[in-house]
Amino acid sequence: MSKVALITGATRGIGKQIALKLAKQGYSIALNYRKENEELINAKKEIEAENVECLCVQGDVSSFEECERFVKETAEHFGTIDVLVNNAGITKDMLLMRMKEEDFRQVIDINLVGTFNVTKSVIPYMMKARNGRIINISSVVGISGNAGQTNYAASKAGIIGFTKSLAKEVASRNILVNAIAPGFIETSMTDVLKDEIKEEIAKAIPLKRMGTAEDVANVVKFLTSEESSYITGQVLHVDGGMLM
Ligand code: NAP
Repeated sequence: MSKVALITGATRGIGKQIALKLAKQGYSIALNYRKENEELINAKKEIEAENVECLCVQGDVSSFEECERFVKETAEHFGTIDVLVNNAGITKDMLLMRMKEEDFRQVIDINLVGTFNVTKSVIPYMMKARNGRIINISSVVGISGNAGQTNYAASKAGIIGFTKSLAKEVASRNILVNAIAPGFIETSMTDVLKDEIKEEIAKAIPLKRMGTAEDVANVVKFLTSEESSYITGQVLHVDGGMLM
């Protein structure tokens, strides 16, 4: 029986590349999405082209009830969940002086509370199986901070504390919990920036380029492999040396 990976927010960008990378490893994929659209249809097609099953499970990660529902749907369909990747995330950038309470709260609700909601729903299945890998997508900004991103940085720093605490709680059950802190990655999230700004940022990165979604997916592949079986509670930086 093939292993099962649930990836949140996997219709595009980093989540989609993670799903494709794990599909190439033979994982059955549970692809979480919020709204049905063309991106979802394309992602499903690309995953199935790897000759694995792709179950699309709808749900907004900021809703605990929806997470419980789609996790149950996944577990009942496949009988197990071996890997969870908490990837869904948003930005709502604004200097604190002008940030609305609603924009602070929404980013925390999706990025941080969403990570709790899905993990809390998945963990009983992993505890029972005495096996599991959880990978949370944080950000370099959660470590360094960034002007205009108090909401986002707080959510990503919160994910790191969450990762380390949970890693300590579940290590004895053979469940490994790690985080990845990507730097500046080419996706629709960073596409909103002007080309001149992107060039400036790239120049300041020691490896002199933006990262790709695949750069992040490669590290997820490692963190789900046997080669990483002695690693838990860690934050792996995938940022071209941006933060040292
Ligand atoms: P993206 O292209 O904007 O993709 C984000 C994905 O998350 C989309 O599929 C989106 O679906 C989904 N999503 C958003 N809110 C959701 C919700 N409430 N419930 C379920 N799904 C939801 O962004 P990305 O760059 O791939 O980012 C992926 C992750 O990497 C995020 O956690 C982000 O913070 C992190 N990250 C990105 C970078 C970067 O430079 N790109 C750097 C560091 C960390 P919809 O179509 O419904 O919006």
